[in-house]
Amino acid sequence: MGLLEGKNAIVFGLANDKSIAWGITQALHREGANIGISYAGDMLEKRVKPLAAQVGADFVEQCNVDSDEQIAAVAEKAKAHFGEIDILVHSIGFANKDELQGYFYNTSRAGFHLAMDISVYSFVGLARAFEPILRRGASLLTLTYYGSVKVAPNYNMMGVAKAALEASTRYLAADFGPRGVRVNAISAGPIRTLAAMGVSGFRDMYKNYADMAPMRENVTIEDCGNAAVFLSSDWAAHTTGEVFYVDSGYNIMGVMDPRKE
Ligand code: NAD
Repeated sequence: MGLLEGKNAIVFGLANDKSIAWGITQALHREGANIGISYAGDMLEKRVKPLAAQVGADFVEQCNVDSDEQIAAVAEKAKAHFGEIDILVHSIGFANKDELQGYFYNTSRAGFHLAMDISVYSFVGLARAFEPILRRGASLLTLTYYGSVKVAPNYNMMGVAKAALEASTRYLAADFGPRGVRVNAISAGPIRTLAAMGVSGFRDMYKNYADMAPMRENVTIEDCGNAAVFLSSDWAAHTTGEVFYVDSGYNIMGVMDPRKE
């Protein structure tokens, strides 16, 4: 029997089979969860529908998280379809390309607002919209990156957004805790996805990452999926408000280890 047998899961942020949301969707499905999928818009439909079919998802709904109406509509549909939700995954981030290169001080007001709206507020908005249908013991998850606590060149505005996302995770965890709902963030190491390719210099960062990480390996969407299973399962029943690193240990290092092993 899977760890998530009988649980209803809805995953936001599936774009293609490279998405972290796909690694998470597959792992939740493997552990027996009933899967619902939400994606951003028409352009992704052709990619998302066949993936949804692979995990037997018959709840596949568009939702552009820049719209309160669309968020409310998807929550209503989820209520009609599932009744209650046990797992909600927010795997969404966006900043304009201009905000992901050069000097951080050049960030525009509009670019700042957009990144905060799509990458941070959307988690709060989804949590609020789904709150009435979250079952006791439910788990909300979001995806973050180490650029929130240390400077990663070019990550710029997204680093600031991820810091706000991690703080939002803690505030949501405090709000939802009394009703037995947990809220955590997975901080993943760099993975080659559509969103990551938008960060200037990502390829070099990706290559150098494994040299610095204690485990000397990059992480995968499958690693994120397995962490999501744990955090969404009853095995993590009293873990909330945490930033859970899936990064081969990168975040513990202060200086690169010169030993070659
Ligand atoms: P991805 O491009 O596959 O996923 C990003 C998703 O955000 C896409 O599905 C996109 O459609 C969705 N999105 C963007 N704007 C949206 C909107 N207005 N409404 C609804 N959905 C919208 O890339 P990914 O790397 O899988 O990103 C998922 C999450 O993981 C992001 O929060 C990202 O910052 C985070 N993350 C990524 C890495 C990495 O290296 N890839 C590392 C750590 C954290």
